[in-house]
Amino acid sequence: MGNTTKDYYEVLGVDRKASQDDIKKAFRKLARKYHPDLNPGDKTAEHKFKEINEAYEVLGDAKKRADYDQFGRSPFDSGGPGFDYRTYASGDRFDFDGFGDIFSDIFGAGRGFEEADLRGPDLVMGIELTMEEAFHGATKPISFNREINCTACGGSGAETYQQCSACKGTGKVTSAKGFFKMSQQCSACGGSGMKVTKQCHSCNGQGRFLHTESLKVKIPAGADTGSRVRLRGMGGSGKGKGSPGDLQIEITVRPHHHFTRKDDDLYLDLPVTFGEAALGAKIEVPIMEGTTVMTLPAGSQSGQKFKLSGKGFPSSRTGKRGSQFVTIKIAVPKMVSEREKEAIREIEKLYKESPRKGMVTS
Ligand SMILES: [Zn+2]
Ligand SMILES: [Zn+2]
Repeated sequence: MGNTTKDYYEVLGVDRKASQDDIKKAFRKLARKYHPDLNPGDKTAEHKFKEINEAYEVLGDAKKRADYDQFGRSPFDSGGPGFDYRTYASGDRFDFDGFGDIFSDIFGAGRGFEEADLRGPDLVMGIELTMEEAFHGATKPISFNREINCTACGGSGAETYQQCSACKGTGKVTSAKGFFKMSQQCSACGGSGMKVTKQCHSCNGQGRFLHTESLKVKIPAGADTGSRVRLRGMGGSGKGKGSPGDLQIEITVRPHHHFTRKDDDLYLDLPVTFGEAALGAKIEVPIMEGTTVMTLPAGSQSGQKFKLSGKGFPSSRTGKRGSQFVTIKIAVPKMVSEREKEAIREIEKLYKESPRKGMVTS
């Protein structure tokens, strides 16, 4: 606790006037993204996850939030329920004070017969690509934990079971109130119509367990920061007969040393010599797949921009390539010898008037 100094609202990315509901939504979204199980060994994600939880412990509680709004974070630095995801990561059941509903929702943790058939939750994990990988497309190994149904018991959590005696296996009980007959879910069996007589030993009656998936994801060429790749059925396990959710892989493309990208266009600053700019030249220009030759016209000015059509990024949808824009910068040599100084003085004589002429306004 108290290991961050960031504003809790900033941590959750919500406005100070956000409703409790919006705060909860923002928390869920971030918790999904940064959960340590989805980012094994990633210290940044782990830190972020702790921050998010710390912020939500306060902002998720209307009373604590009001105190925080008034007094800042100090009242909570030493108090509040402790939180340690490792209890979960080590394979035990979740036991987060007050977070149970949210985490079971995220990971589809169910308890056998009690659950209705529900599709499993989608998991979201982040993946980083170099710009080259994004350009060519890449196959990346990923590893993450997800809950899968126990095959020994088919997800029921039971090794042996019998019909529920309270509802005779129907899952419903009918009660009469005056003229009304009401049908309700049987509370003895939670509506499943069955009673576990012996827990499944493979999953300790949970019906599911944590499984580490290691697989290779194919990222198509043209991916950009924020693009997502969906792997169907690789998310959290469904409840009952529900199908598993999907794994969504959210891509972040790391910045490149030389190129910057905007949509499918690339931008490059290219140093040229004074001679190349003044006299014109054919120069080699780096592009994503190597180099190309560009003709620099005589009298080119520093800052002038040239467009190389079809040398940008491929569109991830159409494959059609954008443009590369090259901005030339005249590189000034670092003087080393008197001979070079002399040559430059000769060049200076070529300027018949000051290049700053007309700029003075007074
Ligand atoms: Zn089992
Ligand atoms: Zn029953």
